[in-house]
Amino acid sequence: MNRLYNTLGLLESAYTRKVRLYEQTEWKGHKQEKDTVIFYTKNHHSIKAHHIIFAGGYANQSIKPDKNAVLTSSYNIVTKPVADFSSWPNRILIWETARPYIYLRTTPDHRIIIGGLDEATTIAEERDKHLHSKKDQLLIELNRRFPNIQVEAEFYLGAFYGGTHDGLPILGIYDEFPRCTFLNAYGDNGLVYSMVLARILRDMLTGVLRLTLKYICNRGNT
Ligand SMILES: Cc1cc2nc3c(=O)[nH]c(=O)nc-3n(C[C@H](O)[C@H](O)[C@H](O)COP(=O)(O)OP(=O)(O)OC[C@H]3O[C@@H](n4cnc5c(N)ncnc54)[C@H](O)[C@@H]3O)c2cc1C
Repeated sequence: MNRLYNTLGLLESAYTRKVRLYEQTEWKGHKQEKDTVIFYTKNHHSIKAHHIIFAGGYANQSIKPDKNAVLTSSYNIVTKPVADFSSWPNRILIWETARPYIYLRTTPDHRIIIGGLDEATTIAEERDKHLHSKKDQLLIELNRRFPNIQVEAEFYLGAFYGGTHDGLPILGIYDEFPRCTFLNAYGDNGLVYSMVLARILRDMLTGVLRLTLKYICNRGNT
């Protein structure tokens, strides 16, 4: 899946259904009123709503930390195109359950994406300090599995990565944030979790779903 096209497609679809979108608009604070919440943006505007969904990804943890969330740093490289994949059966996707783990897959333009080798830090400077050595280690890991493929990294990055202690995503509903829900689609299947949580949240807000969803609502804080 191309994440950029996916995100742009979702936004475009929402826009055609009259959703108003504001780019480059950072949230910086909020005020609670009787039946509404007012949010203030860094460019001096405000948004008034009956219900707010925080879909800030891992940044949600700096607004309302959830005890069940675990943030780490992860690393990834994309190689130059590879001429011969004959030693890689069917170019299958590989995702290790070992710790530390790596994952590998190929791209339509014949590159290899290799990622993993996570570090337990959530400090950006600390994460980026390891970037060059992680790039080299990921290539070594590739060559351990595919000695016939000799290739250089063309792109590489370090990124924060979020999971949960019990492996399930979280809908955060907290007393100190009335009329707000934190959508924390953390974990290896974050994209799938995002869709599942979005549908559950829609049904909760429109009154279709009246269950108490113990398994997805801030379990770590109760
Ligand atoms: C290295 C890596 C590999 C991954 N691999 C996979 C995979 O293979 N499969 C899978 O399913 N998932 C994977 N994921 C997880 C997946 O990317 C996430 O689950 C998904 O992006 C979560 O979507 P989201 O919309 O909740 O948050 P995000 O995509 O993080 O979007 C949050 C948005 O909120 C914005 N924001 C934050 N703070 C503010 C603020 N104060 N004001 C305004 N805007 C703000 C951010 O700029 C961002 O645009 C991976 C994640 C990482 C980091």
